Amino acid sequence: MKSYREELFFQTKQRREFINITDQVQAAIDKSGIKEGLCLVNPMHITASVYINDDESGLLGDYERWLEKLAPHEPVNQYRHNDTGEDNADAHIKRQIMGREAVVAVTNGKLDFGTWEQIFYGEFDGKRRKRVLIKIIGE
Ligand code: ZN
Repeated sequence: MKSYREELFFQTKQRREFINITDQVQAAIDKSGIKEGLCLVNPMHITASVYINDDESGLLGDYERWLEKLAPHEPVNQYRHNDTGEDNADAHIKRQIMGREAVVAVTNGKLDFGTWEQIFYGEFDGKRRKRVLIKIIGE
């Protein structure tokens, strides 16, 4: 069995952003040389998500509005986590809802997706350098 590890880096301009990272994940699979196996993708932070869904601008706006309704950023003093001096309690909650990782089958060297599936990095506390892990195992 072969394995391959790579980190991606993001520093978003906005506090919250959704970034389609499918091409970067496929590029890692290409570099790995692995044809049959599994690919795990996860942020190395507890205020960001990796998830799979449609790359459709209406849906991305819907996520933004829905997450802000569930866990509004402001006022920051509504959260006990922010008593520590942080202001990112909402980002921890958003990450919990949107998930930690995506695992995708690799078949014949390609991400083996269902219809319209794309891999996204969901940033909820951005404007700083953050990492995403890609780990691929197989042969
Ligand atoms: Zn925090």
